[in-house]
Amino acid sequence: MRVPLRKGRRSGWIAVKRNATKPGGTTVWITGDQLSPRNSALAGCDRADATVLMIESLQHARQLPHHKRKLVLIYAAMRAYADDLRRAGWHVDYHAEREDFETPLAEHVATYRPAHVRAMAQSDFGGNEALAAALREHELTLEVTPHANFVSSAEELAQLFARGQARVTMETFYRNMRRKTGLLMDGGEPAGGAWNFDADNRKPPVRGMSFPPEPRVPVPEHARAAIALVEKHFPDHPGAIGDFDIPTTRADALAYAEDFFVNRLDRFGPYEDAMLRGEARLYHSRLSALLNVGLLHPLELCERAELVYRSGHARLASVEGFVRQLIGWREFIWQVYWRLMPEYRLRNALGADLPVPSFYRDGNTTMACQRDVLRRVHQLGWAHHIERLMVLGNFALLAGCDPQAMTDWFWYMFVDGYDWVMVPNVIGMTLHADGGFVGTKPYAASANYINKMSNYCGSCAYDPKKVVGENACPYNALYWDFIARNERRFASNPRMSLPLRNWNSKDRDVRTAIRRRASDLLERLRAGESL
Ligand SMILES: Cc1cc2nc3c(=O)[nH]c(=O)nc-3n(C[C@H](O)[C@H](O)[C@H](O)COP(=O)(O)OP(=O)(O)OC[C@H]3O[C@@H](n4cnc5c(N)ncnc54)[C@H](O)[C@@H]3O)c2cc1C
Ligand code: SF4
Repeated sequence: MRVPLRKGRRSGWIAVKRNATKPGGTTVWITGDQLSPRNSALAGCDRADATVLMIESLQHARQLPHHKRKLVLIYAAMRAYADDLRRAGWHVDYHAEREDFETPLAEHVATYRPAHVRAMAQSDFGGNEALAAALREHELTLEVTPHANFVSSAEELAQLFARGQARVTMETFYRNMRRKTGLLMDGGEPAGGAWNFDADNRKPPVRGMSFPPEPRVPVPEHARAAIALVEKHFPDHPGAIGDFDIPTTRADALAYAEDFFVNRLDRFGPYEDAMLRGEARLYHSRLSALLNVGLLHPLELCERAELVYRSGHARLASVEGFVRQLIGWREFIWQVYWRLMPEYRLRNALGADLPVPSFYRDGNTTMACQRDVLRRVHQLGWAHHIERLMVLGNFALLAGCDPQAMTDWFWYMFVDGYDWVMVPNVIGMTLHADGGFVGTKPYAASANYINKMSNYCGSCAYDPKKVVGENACPYNALYWDFIARNERRFASNPRMSLPLRNWNSKDRDVRTAIRRRASDLLERLRAGESL
């Protein structure tokens, strides 16, 4: 039976409490990134005895100025998930549009008087302790069940370290994951006779490329209510909601993924690194946000991708590339986070301290690549991996931006941003602030790389070939300055010997002019000016 919600809560409907006053049952607490049909806290619970607790906390969402689209996704998906649970026979105590966690939790405990509370492990460091502390106020303890949004376990990374290796690369971890899951394996060997098809997967964009149309994503009642909620409570948060096109139900998420498998997967690999002015998605899946809230599971996506390959509808290089992103990079990032936190978040191996440049906030820059990517971050809360790494991240690395401030910026500006995934991607992969744990060398590049992999430079007021002079591309002088600034640090890294040699082979006057140009750019950035 369903009744209207109490006045002043939110529009919509909730189920009447079946066993509202029956004490001594189990409470299953589900948070906004645990919206998975595999949620392990539900597994093994008796539906007749359990109540699912879900709380929307506005205060929690205000801790950082999260992109509006991210908030819409989470609130809408939580409400849709609650409905799916009710349809499956669960009793859900849903607290919509509440200020904090504490008051609805107290109401829940007073009403249901649970004997036992369980929750699936939180993704972010400190999350389990925060829930447990809130429950202690009510003399309740928390049973934490294993995380179900991932394929690997901590033991897998630990075993690699136990073999005496000082560092574990993503590649070693990934091959183990292939063996463990049997994905793209023919007997004991990798499909196609190779683990890695990266060499086939670095094509620049070509003239006249065409892309499939975006699938139509329904905007159900929950999403419309969540849009209204976000506009009402978070008007000053960054980002546009626009024509909201992110799936918020499990069924819509599966349909969105299927559209990718049918229409984009085959060309995903070769153009994975390509960037195009005005074209956000190319052949990328745009599934990260759905994975990170739990609507999709990495294993089901990899299995589906493999089926597409085995049935001859996608090339191996693309399917391997996609599987590598999921059971390689995504899982590796997850394991690195949990192995190295909490100290990892504070690392700053290169001593970088420049504040986040002003144009990361307002998009107001003459640099064509930055302008285009920042525009799509504003519009979609999303940009593809190479734009994050080689346009936004590379600039922040070269300019020496503060790693913790950059992590926060990426975290709140992206719809798929969570602490567990941002910290290793920004501190580790992008800013090399971990001293080389995630990547053996910094992903530092001059305008050359962007010019080769995109069509941005052709429309830019800056010249990608020039290093000094007013219209010289800022990436160039900053690149060489970065190498020079860190010369001593990189001297022991064989993978940095080529750029160091190139720097030192330059004429002294040329080096002085480059460093002067870099110093001028950095001064302007430090003064809050744009470039
Ligand atoms: C600076 C920076 C910040 C990033 N922040 C996030 C983030 O907050 N959340 C996030 O999910 N990813 C993050 N990534 C990783 C990656 O860029 C995104 O997962 C990807 O761009 C999402 O788009 P997609 O779904 O189309 O991915 P695709 O290119 O289609 O790849 C498929 C999937 O692989 C996974 N994946 C690939 N690379 C990574 C990686 N390095 N870390 C984790 N998962 C990966 C994602 O789940 C992604 O959906 C970041 C990367 C960088 C360089
Ligand atoms: S010239 Fe430099 S700033 Fe302009 S688009 Fe190319 S890389 Fe970006």
